[in-house]
Amino acid sequence: MVYIDAHTHFGKKGKGLPPNTPEERIKMMDEIGMDAMVTTPPYASISYDRTYDEANAFILEVMQKYPDRFYGLARINPHFRKKAVERAEKWLKKGFWGIKFHPRNEAFPANSKELVFPIMEKVKELGGIVLFHTGEPDFSHPTLIGDVADHFPEIPIIIGHLGKIYYMDAILVAKWFDNVFVDTSFCQGVHVIEKAVEIAGAEKVLYASDYPQGSIELDTMKVQLADISKRDKELILGRNIKRILDEVKKKR
Ligand SMILES: [Zn+2]
Repeated sequence: MVYIDAHTHFGKKGKGLPPNTPEERIKMMDEIGMDAMVTTPPYASISYDRTYDEANAFILEVMQKYPDRFYGLARINPHFRKKAVERAEKWLKKGFWGIKFHPRNEAFPANSKELVFPIMEKVKELGGIVLFHTGEPDFSHPTLIGDVADHFPEIPIIIGHLGKIYYMDAILVAKWFDNVFVDTSFCQGVHVIEKAVEIAGAEKVLYASDYPQGSIELDTMKVQLADISKRDKELILGRNIKRILDEVKKKR
């Protein structure tokens, strides 16, 4: 079975929750039989470094050391506009697998044509996936992601946290747009995963935990407890994200 966490965070000591070394994380993954994690810099509303330069550099280092265990998404603050596009280009060329946006954290609408679309253009050109934090009624409402997906059908886009309480919107956007997926971290419960499989299809659902803020055990259990087939569980727990990452690799 392929077991990959599609949404985690990773920062070095003092800059993120422990465990703070790749070796500690690999030990943890080995103990539970996890193959790899998609990871990105920690939550940071008022960050010591709004550019994320240092946080992304740390993840790049980790990825280069253990390329089969960590798939990094560069965190980009789009308010830097031209500089943000340049940063996205730099990180993607260095080997990041895509970009993570946090529209609420940094106060920009997820579908901003001025701030987000120029970065999406870069991802379209260089290849990669885009993960959006979602779940609040303003900047990170999941329906805004539908607008982005409509403009960039070639980019795999992940609706983080399955839209939290707006899960029906998240599920419908994933149903409407071929390139949209939902991740299960901090989702509302087992029934939400069942609904997502029923309406959007198991191929569109990615197991994730938001580790270390979230719990790998709890979020894995949500998938295991869902009333869906064994095949669907396998897709959700790793095969789907593996397929998406393999596609990115092929295009590069
Ligand atoms: Zn996150």
